Amino acid sequence: MVAIGAWLHSGVTEMNEPQLTVSDRCDQCGAQAFVRVTLESGELYFCAHHGRAASAALNESAVSILDESHRLHATPAGAGVH
Ligand SMILES: [Zn+2]
Repeated sequence: MVAIGAWLHSGVTEMNEPQLTVSDRCDQCGAQAFVRVTLESGELYFCAHHGRAASAALNESAVSILDESHRLHATPAGAGVH
């Protein structure tokens, strides 16, 4: 049972593996980045707050926009509450 559960879990994790890590920082304020905007000239990283504004402003020129800001709401209960 444990082996099967671990296998299922690793499969799910692999599919949903986040692209952004805690070492990616917002170019505007230095907070953890949850949005990555890929331009032809390079990549920009933004926190959830600045990512909203940036993705709206850069929507026309961006090659792709990765938005993982939903992960802010997926933190374990109590993690961000103090
Ligand atoms: Zn920011």
